[in-house]
Amino acid sequence: MQDGSATEVQTTCPYCGVGCGVLARTAADGAVTVRGDPDHPANLGKLCSKGAALGETTGLDGRLLAPQIGGRETSWEEALDLVASRFTQTIARYGPNAVAFYVSGQLLTEDYYVANKLMKGFIGSGNIDTNSRLCMASSVAGHRRAFGEDIVPGVYEDLEQADLVVLTGSNLAWCHPILHQRLLQARAARGTKIVVIDPRRTATADVCDLHLAIDPGTDVLLFNGLLAHLARVGVVDQTYVSASTSGFAEAVASASADAPSPEVVAAGCGIAAEDVRAFYEMFAATERSVTVYSQGVNQSAHGTDKVNAIVNCHLATGRIGRPGTGPFSVTGQPNAMGGREVGGLANQLAAHMGFDAPDDIDRVARFWNAPSIARQAGLKAVDLFEAVGDGRVKALWIMGTNPAVSMPDAGRVRSALKACDFLVVSDVTQTDTTRHADVLLPAAGWGEKRGTVTNSERRLSRQRAFMPTAGDARPDWRIVCDVARRMGFGKAFDFDGPAAIFREHAALSAFENVGGRLFDIGALADMTDTDYERLVPRRWPQPTHGTPAGRLLADGRFPTPDGRARLVAVRQEGPALAVGATHPIALNTGRARDQWHTMTRTGRVPRLMSNAPEPVIEIAPVDADRQGLADGDLAHISSRHGFARARVRVSTGQKPGSAFLPMHWSGQFAAHAGAGPLSSPLTDPFSGQPELKHVPVRIHREAVA
Ligand code: SF4
Repeated sequence: MQDGSATEVQTTCPYCGVGCGVLARTAADGAVTVRGDPDHPANLGKLCSKGAALGETTGLDGRLLAPQIGGRETSWEEALDLVASRFTQTIARYGPNAVAFYVSGQLLTEDYYVANKLMKGFIGSGNIDTNSRLCMASSVAGHRRAFGEDIVPGVYEDLEQADLVVLTGSNLAWCHPILHQRLLQARAARGTKIVVIDPRRTATADVCDLHLAIDPGTDVLLFNGLLAHLARVGVVDQTYVSASTSGFAEAVASASADAPSPEVVAAGCGIAAEDVRAFYEMFAATERSVTVYSQGVNQSAHGTDKVNAIVNCHLATGRIGRPGTGPFSVTGQPNAMGGREVGGLANQLAAHMGFDAPDDIDRVARFWNAPSIARQAGLKAVDLFEAVGDGRVKALWIMGTNPAVSMPDAGRVRSALKACDFLVVSDVTQTDTTRHADVLLPAAGWGEKRGTVTNSERRLSRQRAFMPTAGDARPDWRIVCDVARRMGFGKAFDFDGPAAIFREHAALSAFENVGGRLFDIGALADMTDTDYERLVPRRWPQPTHGTPAGRLLADGRFPTPDGRARLVAVRQEGPALAVGATHPIALNTGRARDQWHTMTRTGRVPRLMSNAPEPVIEIAPVDADRQGLADGDLAHISSRHGFARARVRVSTGQKPGSAFLPMHWSGQFAAHAGAGPLSSPLTDPFSGQPELKHVPVRIHREAVA
């Protein structure tokens, strides 16, 4: 179906990285109804609770409808002129690194592409980072260390073709519900074994065969123990290791020193030795094994090492690049993967090229005709807001995200936003961040804008418009291009729509033999506008020069200098901040089933709010007893960085000494209720991803409930 149709329009869910297809219809009275698209390969007609409620999120409640300067409504002309002139003046006076963009995995690929092109290509700074930094940056860094490129080897069918699926740091049942349903269906048919590794007993753990409730942050020890076990019992694919990998001996030596026996692992992880042995024996005995991991692995000061500890086990056994095998990082956001493809992270360039290769920089400079292109990586998210706070970054443009709530040490981020010389926010709705903006730009929302997204299995899908744009809102790509033109970069941003941007993005991936890399969508560079409108979901790499698109990494060759994957020697290390006498509880943060991010959309849907209408902290019975807390009490939670309040739920699913608080709540829905102000800004040294999964806190009863 085409955009603007009065009948059902094929589009894609704007929430999680599963990337489900949606059929949307607008009635004469403006009411929107949705159903799952039976033809979309990700969901085959199903939707989860959030996706099924999409039609209830398209109203005008909280929408930004007109540009504003200092809270006064104004014209687009005046707002865009001001943004362009202030950015230009700041760059002229202080240099290109005095400005920055902070963008979002909610943006469409075309929006992301032009924002990245403007900042890195024409402003000449690497200072564009994204909220995906909080989501999957450790997987990106781990993939680059192991494979030489940010490649996700897995596809969804692997979960259906495996005999063992290990879910580690992933509450798939709540965070990727449709993928979890596919897994459970496959289990019913073929008896797949499911192992869940998570300190909490989650909804995912409730239906698994073996739950390893490891102590927070001990993942490297567990997987080092697995690698040592595989080497000890001889379950190593020697042919694959010899032909396709390097670093095997060093990785095994490191793992064996760390985890010489299941008993040592059990003691270090806080679980029973027989459970460790059961997991290791199950993995060793099951050729078709997939390890799915998500934020529980990534959001750590050692997230990259955790990723490589997992990947090592698959490389050692050759269980990668074949059906029903592989390490598989599933992304949180609908277009985290699309952002990676266009270079939306501060340390990437574009089309999977990077700043660490001078040839890449020259190649992109030639393609963009951008002699002032940035030659160094920019500031990653946490460092970026620190630079805003101390005045190194003087002009900041935030697109489609709410860092005043979602960033770690969010209180400090809010202070930085208040102090920023010039803050631009483009977004769909009012948020805790928009209130700090000097200039507010209303962006088109889901159902109003057109473009592409890429899901966790590298599948590109179209988002299509099916309703008129609210008020004066405009698509993000157009806002960026209008500012770029006013800054004097008009020729490079003379796009007449998202199809033209996508063609340029695709052409860049094939430019000057970049197609030798595994990321390649160059075959789509010749699409007409009509082809683009009719684009059906497809995975990259695209078939080129008559070659069919195959499964990634099937030939055992990797885009590293020697063509081999690298096993990385890693060691277990403790969290960035340990619990202690003053802050004895390890707080874990994450998603609730029916909410999305800072609730700017799902928080407006009564039926999604009804299941959990207020923030709830889950604590173990022994900790509740110690603090005199009972179900329904109001708790005061404080860390070294801030505090929050939440209702208490005493849960046997929590390990003693740990607690769980949803990440979603913002000041718009309940004061002092979010996890962001509590969290530490300490990050992984390779990925820059903050440690959102381990925050030392103390918990007391609030004086007044
Ligand atoms: Fe949307 Fe994810 Fe639910 Fe699918 S599983 S409907 S993509 S939120």
